[in-house]
Amino acid sequence: MIREIRKIGDPVLRRKARKVEKVNKDVQKLLDDMIETMRAGNGVGLAAPQVGVLQRALVVEIEANEKIPGSGVTYALINPEIVRQSEETWESQEGCLSIPGWRGEVERPLRIVVKALDREGNRIRLEAEGWVARVLQHEIDHLEGVLFIDKLTAPDRVWRVEEGREEETTEEMALATP
Ligand code: ZN
Repeated sequence: MIREIRKIGDPVLRRKARKVEKVNKDVQKLLDDMIETMRAGNGVGLAAPQVGVLQRALVVEIEANEKIPGSGVTYALINPEIVRQSEETWESQEGCLSIPGWRGEVERPLRIVVKALDREGNRIRLEAEGWVARVLQHEIDHLEGVLFIDKLTAPDRVWRVEEGREEETTEEMALATP
C-alpha cells in the first residue's frame, strides 16, 4: 500500500522516532509499504516519519550500478544505529521526498558501519560506503527529526530542481562516487 509522504512543514518530520520494541507483522507491513511508497516516488530511501509513523524504521534501495557499491540491494532496517564512521568525508548533492523540488550539498562520512534488525528481527551489521552510506545516514537523520537542509555545506548550496528528480542517481552523481 502506498502511503502519503509527509512534506516539509509537517511537524512529524521534526520529531524523534521511537525504538521498535517488537518486530511483528505491523512493522513488516510498514516496511513493505515504505518500499512501495519509495519506489512510487522514485526515491532511493525513505524513513518511517516521512509516512507519519514515529518508529525507527527505514528503507534504502539504489538501482544496481556497477560504480555504486551496495547498489541493487533493498535494505529494510529497524532500529538502525551508526556504530562507526570514517573520518574521511565527501560532499555531494541530496534530495528528499519530503522536500520536493530541492537539492542541496551535504558533507558526510564516506564509510559507516550500521547495526540494526532486519525485517525478520535478526541482528545485522552492515558496512556501507559512498552512496549507500550517504542515503543510510540521510534516513537515520530522519529518525532524529533532522533534514538534509539542516546540514548544507553552506547556506547557498541548495538548488531548485524539477520535481520528481530530487533523488535520482544520475550518471554524473555515480561518477562522483569515490
Ligand atoms: Zn529525506
